[in-house]
Amino acid sequence: MGLPRSASAVGALWHCDVPSLPTTKLTLMLQCISRAYVSASKGNALPQLLVNDLRSVASDTKGPFYCRPFLHELNEIKKKHPEVTSFPMSKASIKAISEKVHKSEWVAQSTVKHRRAKPSVGVSAFFKRDAKPTLCIRSRICFGVALTPQRHHLYKHTPTPLCSSCGVVGDLDHVLFHCKLYAFARGKCESELQQLYFPVQLTREVIYGVPPPAPRGFSDERAFLSDMHARCLKATSNFINTINGINRL
Ligand SMILES: [Zn+2]
Repeated sequence: MGLPRSASAVGALWHCDVPSLPTTKLTLMLQCISRAYVSASKGNALPQLLVNDLRSVASDTKGPFYCRPFLHELNEIKKKHPEVTSFPMSKASIKAISEKVHKSEWVAQSTVKHRRAKPSVGVSAFFKRDAKPTLCIRSRICFGVALTPQRHHLYKHTPTPLCSSCGVVGDLDHVLFHCKLYAFARGKCESELQQLYFPVQLTREVIYGVPPPAPRGFSDERAFLSDMHARCLKATSNFINTINGINRL
């Protein structure tokens, strides 16, 4: 799980909000040290020993031998994250550092396509809101493995990557936005999105399940935006389910 190389594996971990092993270790270190400080302040003997050692030793080349590897790691953390200055740290501070590291790792490893599908940290909303089989279809679209004519050809299921109805390459853009086979379902979805409280365009992002951009002055209306997002998920789930009913995605 440390540094997955497959693009779809990176995308899957990001959509499920699973941090890498180094990020998980960093979070646990900060939580454990903070808890030790809180416990020591309540008079517990063992945490007091650890905290006293940490307070008395500035360098990882000094101090009791059992502390050195730990101090070395702690000093490395402080070098990389200057915001780690004192303990105990609040839960919010630890969460902020973990999310920052998680996101920067994701940006370093992911492709632009993956970032379009999920631009921020947290579990993707459609994971919680979509029922099966929509969840599976939308996941395949997000991870770039939906069964388009082009993908079927790649898997050697068909002799050509062309769409049998339109005679052009049947990639995901063609299926979602241009293929005449799905024109009726697409038109219905576009119409539903246009008739919401504020009109939403049918884009890749909306099909990926990304919340629609908030209109000016509505950015703080969380309940309203959440309802709008749910309606967009509903409209696009009908669309991708219809495509899947005609040709399995
Ligand atoms: Zn077509």
